[in-house]
Amino acid sequence: MIRSANPDTIRPYLADASNLSGGYASEVVFPENEKEVIQVLDEACRAGAPVTIAGNGTGLVGARIPFGGIVLSTEKLGGLRKIYQDGKGFGYAVTGPASTLRALQEAVSARGLLYPPDPTEQSAFIGASVATNASGSRTFKYGATRRWVKRIRVVLATGDILELHRGEFVADTEGRISLKGARNSFELKLPQYRMPEGKHSGGYYIAPGMSALDLFVGSEGTLGVITEVDVELIPRPQGILSGVVFFTCEEDAWQFAYHARGESLENRASHRRDRIDASALEYFDSRSLEILRSAYSQIPQNAQGALFFEQEVQPQSEKSITEQWYRLCKRHQSLFDQSWFCKSTKEHAEFRVFRHAIPVLVNRILKQYRQMKIGTDFTVPNTRFFDLFLLYRRSLRDSGLRYCIFGHIADNHLHVNIIPQNDQEAGRAWQLYRKIARQIIEWGGTISAEHGVGKIKREYLLDMFGQSGLREMAVIKKELDPCVILGRGNIIPEELLLR
Ligand SMILES: Cc1cc2nc3c(=O)[nH]c(=O)nc-3n(C[C@H](O)[C@H](O)[C@H](O)COP(=O)(O)OP(=O)(O)OC[C@H]3O[C@@H](n4cnc5c(N)ncnc54)[C@H](O)[C@@H]3O)c2cc1C
Repeated sequence: MIRSANPDTIRPYLADASNLSGGYASEVVFPENEKEVIQVLDEACRAGAPVTIAGNGTGLVGARIPFGGIVLSTEKLGGLRKIYQDGKGFGYAVTGPASTLRALQEAVSARGLLYPPDPTEQSAFIGASVATNASGSRTFKYGATRRWVKRIRVVLATGDILELHRGEFVADTEGRISLKGARNSFELKLPQYRMPEGKHSGGYYIAPGMSALDLFVGSEGTLGVITEVDVELIPRPQGILSGVVFFTCEEDAWQFAYHARGESLENRASHRRDRIDASALEYFDSRSLEILRSAYSQIPQNAQGALFFEQEVQPQSEKSITEQWYRLCKRHQSLFDQSWFCKSTKEHAEFRVFRHAIPVLVNRILKQYRQMKIGTDFTVPNTRFFDLFLLYRRSLRDSGLRYCIFGHIADNHLHVNIIPQNDQEAGRAWQLYRKIARQIIEWGGTISAEHGVGKIKREYLLDMFGQSGLREMAVIKKELDPCVILGRGNIIPEELLLR
């Protein structure tokens, strides 16, 4: 196993895409198998040294940034191992934690399969995307990562290896789960807090009768090292229809999205395969388009809002579905003639790059100002769809801060990215963030739909689940990690763990 205390080797592991600064570690280790993972964890337990698990560093909440102790990189724990396919074109992949999402998607696609969750940052590792319960543009149709995880292997801080299949080790009616490893047994009591409606990835997951597996999905490196994952695969769609539709005002884009979502849900529920049924609906406000214009001069000059849509189609229904989308565009006063509709898989791929370009460009600007990303990851229940836009508009327009709004509109999940240019603006931005977060919680939404809590969003999780909720999480954490070495500072405040 490679281990290094060289500051130059450690440095890249002190960062992720949040720009959180101040991280430090004494060593980075690169175990190549579970035996070596156990060796590292045993040593750390004996020394009481914190261990921060690192994926590929694209996280947005500082969760993989260590504040002391050692970094356990998962890079050498292996990638894709095997793809199984049944006669109906479905299947599953067995993979080590270090496969990038891109590598996984390319390999399964070559076999005519699709891994449906689609976190837009393709360089993320699969192990980490399970650890953060990542979502993406296709979550509207296919749900988050959790739904596609069939099995995991996880090494606990105690050196026990757990093999957890969906449907096994389920919670009893009292919310208790019993687990047994080679060295120890574990008795877990699930917390009592109420999970928000819809997309959510903040704190430990709970549901009646849930599988133990689900506790680890979204646990942000605090409960164990995920060493192997089985993910379900579906047949790759025969065809994809997509477009980037521009509007002269944001309200028209909201209305378009509202109706496209409504039709999609209705048609999906009644299995009407020849009707509108978006797999992705992604929003860009006028400020996002302004930022994107630096890379895409072809964006219409009078466009003030845009929607990217994507739908899987069969050849026999493609024409009719295309016409339905065109009609919807025209009904909502889009800049139809200047909008972009895909005519080839190459164009479709370009549209997806266009969608991904907005967070990439924002991150680039933030780096110039040496500022941390202040990005919301909130969702609200469906009934608050328009309220969400109005809340953002009301809170941000007069703030004098630079910002843009984009994202997964069909899930009521928009990312407000505030771009402070100095520390004073950053302070104001966080005040605004907190105010908005409070309203979101009051509406029954979540403070983290997909990015997790990490070290940056803990106080908002406290607002959501209260001190009692955090204490209940701390009890689970301490049962599985009695020395409290894993993922210190993530999700649960240290004062609840270290006394
Ligand atoms: C431009 C951009 C766009 C993004 N878009 C999306 C998006 O659409 N949806 C979304 O959900 N996220 C998105 N993200 C965030 C990020 O890609 C995800 O959070 C991703 O899952 C992190 O993967 P990573 O390999 O970079 O993990 P890291 O940042 O290295 O780690 C993330 C967390 O996972 C833990 N971890 C890593 N590996 C393991 C393991 N094997 N076992 C246990 N714990 C582990 C770490 O300790 C840490 O807590 C985006 C990020 C960027 C920069």
